[in-house]
Amino acid sequence: MPRDLKKNSSLIAVPNPAGALDPADRLNNKTAGEVCPICFGAGMEIVPGKGARACSCQTQNAHSTHLQKARLPLRYADCHFHNYKPANDSQVKAFHYASRLAMEFPAVEQGLLLMGTVGVGKTHLAVSILKGLTERGFGCLFYEFGSLLKQIQDSYNSHTQTSELSVLSPVLNAEILVLDEVGASKPTDWVRDTMAHIINTRYNDRKLTIFTTNYLDERPAGREETLEDRIGVRLRSRLFEMCKTVILTGEDYRRSFNTPAKKNPLR
Ligand code: ADP
Repeated sequence: MPRDLKKNSSLIAVPNPAGALDPADRLNNKTAGEVCPICFGAGMEIVPGKGARACSCQTQNAHSTHLQKARLPLRYADCHFHNYKPANDSQVKAFHYASRLAMEFPAVEQGLLLMGTVGVGKTHLAVSILKGLTERGFGCLFYEFGSLLKQIQDSYNSHTQTSELSVLSPVLNAEILVLDEVGASKPTDWVRDTMAHIINTRYNDRKLTIFTTNYLDERPAGREETLEDRIGVRLRSRLFEMCKTVILTGEDYRRSFNTPAKKNPLR
């Protein structure tokens, strides 16, 4: 964590266990306790004949802070565009849309709705977009939709009959928001109302949102529900307006590591 953030934080600092990595450092491939070899922690570097300027580690620190604020789960620390290996045309197309969005934002009209069965790389691409955009200095936020709902529920105050604005406000206001696994939560009225509030507010404020979902528009054999069944007709229609729908097909990528007899076809 950058020193100035520690100083200003109202949270109680908990010592980092020896050797443990700060998540942001891990995302930056930095080793715990490593001191910048250029400025040795001073934050400035001397350019011979020109004077002093902010050291490049400071830019990295700013990026780390952005990444921390984006709340990317550590398990996606290694997801980047450069290690996404498309296995078919649908994944090539998805990669193309995702990387264009990361490069061209804010000159984009719509977000993305990445649809497809489990393990086809939807979250990998959504995380890669967020990393690209945080590198470019935009304020991003990642939430797995089920855990966001839980946090909102947990912050509910029965006296005031409201939830903590501190949970919802960053979700409504983030420049770019990823909502992962939309439709996964049991579709109660409260879930749909909360989702409608978030989506409609962001739509009205013209804020970019990227969604991933394991549900499709068609009802494939053996699957009982569509995305519309899970989130309702109105919200599905709103997502059509807000997002370019991109369908990824293919095998569950994780499974390709668990079949020793077969060679991983994606490597
Ligand atoms: P989904 O969100 O579609 O369920 P994930 O993006 O979570 O799938 O992918 C599951 C795991 O497989 C992750 O570790 C991800 O990095 C990896 N993965 C999936 N597809 C690819 C791909 N085409 N290239 C590289 N890694 C992939």
